[in-house]
Amino acid sequence: MDIVKGNMGWIEVITGPMFSGKSEELIRRLRRAEIARQRVQIFKPQIDSRYAENEIVSHSGLGIRSELVRTAAEVLERVEPRTEVVGIDEAQFLGDELPAVAQKLANLGKRVIIAGLDTDYLGRPFEPMPRLLAIAEEITKLLAICVRCGNPAVHTQRLVASDELIVVGAGDKYEARCRRCFEPHLVREQADAPHETQAQNQRKAHAAGSQK
Ligand code: ADP
Ligand code: ZN
Repeated sequence: MDIVKGNMGWIEVITGPMFSGKSEELIRRLRRAEIARQRVQIFKPQIDSRYAENEIVSHSGLGIRSELVRTAAEVLERVEPRTEVVGIDEAQFLGDELPAVAQKLANLGKRVIIAGLDTDYLGRPFEPMPRLLAIAEEITKLLAICVRCGNPAVHTQRLVASDELIVVGAGDKYEARCRRCFEPHLVREQADAPHETQAQNQRKAHAAGSQK
C-alpha cells in the first residue's frame, strides 16, 4: 500500500495463528512509519489487568510502546486528529465494534494496521477478524511452524483444559499446529483418557494396522 494519492486512509490486516509473526510484522510496519516521521499511535486490549504493560512485545522479544484500551470505542476516543497511522494488536479481543471504528479512522484519512488471530482454539473464525478481513484494502496471512511436524501451521493449539474462548497465555498454554496435527478437542479427550489423545490412539491403531 505504498502508492496512495492524497491523504486517503486505508485498512491493512495482519492475521494468522499464534506464533506466526503478527506482532513482529505489525512492529516492523509501525517502526518504518516512525522512521518516515509519520505520527503513529498504537493500541492493544487490556484483557487482564495484571498485565498492564504499555508495550506490545512479540514472542521473539521485539517491542514497541502502546496504549491499553478496553474497547474499540476507546480507540476512537483516544486517536488524536493529527495521528496518521493507527496500529492495533490482538484485535480479536476488541469486540464487534472494531470494524466500524477501523472504517471511521480510514475514512478520516488514517492508515489503520490491525493484527489479530483469525481463528480460535477450536479453529472457528474469531470475530470480529472475519469482518475486518472483508473490509480491508490489504490482508497479510502469516503461518507459523507446526511444532509436531514442521509443516506450515495455520492453527493455535490450546494445551490446557478450558472451554472459555479467552484464556490468556503464550507458549505455556498454546502451540502452533498444522492442519494435520491440530487436535481441537485435545483437552476434553485428555480428561476422558488422561494419558492418550485421540491422535495418539489413531496413530497406534494405524501402526497396529500396518503391522498386519
Ligand atoms: P504472533 O503475534 O503471531 O503470535 P509474534 O510476532 O509474537 O507472533 O512471534 C513470532 C516469533 O515467535 C517468531 O519469529 C519466532 O521467533 C517465535 N516462534 C515461537 N514458536 C514458533 C513457531 N512454532 N513457529 C514460528 N515461530 C515461532
Ligand atoms: Zn503438523
